[in-house]
Amino acid sequence: MNHFTPLRSLVCKVISRCNINCDYCYMYHGNDQSWQQQPLKMAEETIKQLGKRINEHTQNHQISEFSVIMHGGEPLLGGLEYLESFQRIISQNVTEIELKFGIQTNGILLSKEIFDFCVNNNISIGLSMDGYKEANDQHRLDYQGRSSFEKVEKALELLNSDQGKKIWSGFLCVIDLHNDPQKVYSYLSEYSPRFIDFLLPLNHHNLRPFGKEKSLDVTPYADWLLKVFDMWYHQKPQTIRIRKFEDIVSLFLGLQVKSEEWGLNPIDFAVIETNGDIEAVDTLKVTYPEATKLGMNIFTHSFDDIFCSSKVIERQEKWKYLSTACQECKLVKVCGGGYLPHRYSQENQFQNPSVYCSDLKKIITTIRQEVIKNLEATKHRHLVS
Ligand code: SF4
Repeated sequence: MNHFTPLRSLVCKVISRCNINCDYCYMYHGNDQSWQQQPLKMAEETIKQLGKRINEHTQNHQISEFSVIMHGGEPLLGGLEYLESFQRIISQNVTEIELKFGIQTNGILLSKEIFDFCVNNNISIGLSMDGYKEANDQHRLDYQGRSSFEKVEKALELLNSDQGKKIWSGFLCVIDLHNDPQKVYSYLSEYSPRFIDFLLPLNHHNLRPFGKEKSLDVTPYADWLLKVFDMWYHQKPQTIRIRKFEDIVSLFLGLQVKSEEWGLNPIDFAVIETNGDIEAVDTLKVTYPEATKLGMNIFTHSFDDIFCSSKVIERQEKWKYLSTACQECKLVKVCGGGYLPHRYSQENQFQNPSVYCSDLKKIITTIRQEVIKNLEATKHRHLVS
């Protein structure tokens, strides 16, 4: 491959186990169970090698800013000392660029010490939580089936403080149709997060989403999200950013977005397993065993090597590898065919429209109509004033 978009961020599986047992988790409840062969945590020599590979890649491509997300499993299981050493070793091996660190966590182990370490080192924290107690308890239970809610609310006390606001990036919230969308949004927005990412459940054509088992033409996920959109869009002042909605509006206006979920932009991130394996997007674990595997490791391969893998080329040259229905769809520039795992079927692999296609169509067209209506009203106000 001659031309590719270099990596600008890495999702690093620093810990390959978790302290709770969310039943929708793609890591532990997906078709790929390879986490069982992964070392519990990333070893010191692997972290050092990772730093060297980041350095090599950023120098080769003259990249001035690079993000490293500590992910898992649950990264805070590593404890303060381990997180400190991860950040220190990477930083020591990467020169001349601005490194941005982040942690994606369930929040349960967010102690004051870990929080202070993040504040002092400007490490952003993303919190996974699905809303009010009954909503969060639908899936986010521990191994004994107990709620994790109170412990996560404790983490929110820290993140919602003046110091916390400087590093807290916001919520990752998985949609469950049993939960009231307005109540979920009201609960999350009370904490004034910078971002909320609402995620569609990781289903595909061989594992249909709840509510779409009998027909893919129904649109319960669009209806759920549009109730949130309606509240959010008319909020004044609008201080919370909802990525899904902003991305749709940006793409509709012809702007670029970073998300892999929308649009046709090439991906610019990879996933590193605890043993140093370089992998394609980790959520593919819900599709088939080894779906994420590239057969490459940071000890034997540079990041440039992954751009020879068909699994990465398909995500770089996205449009070329879409189904004919998506290629011919009027919404493809915004939709991008949907998120890769949602497109999967055993029969056609990833050459299908998203299993959420009807929802995506409804979300995009409704938001577009609302924005146009709003722009026209603003134009009219300007003309008469
Ligand atoms: S998933 Fe559906 S809405 Fe999206 S591009 Fe494909 S056909 Fe169009």
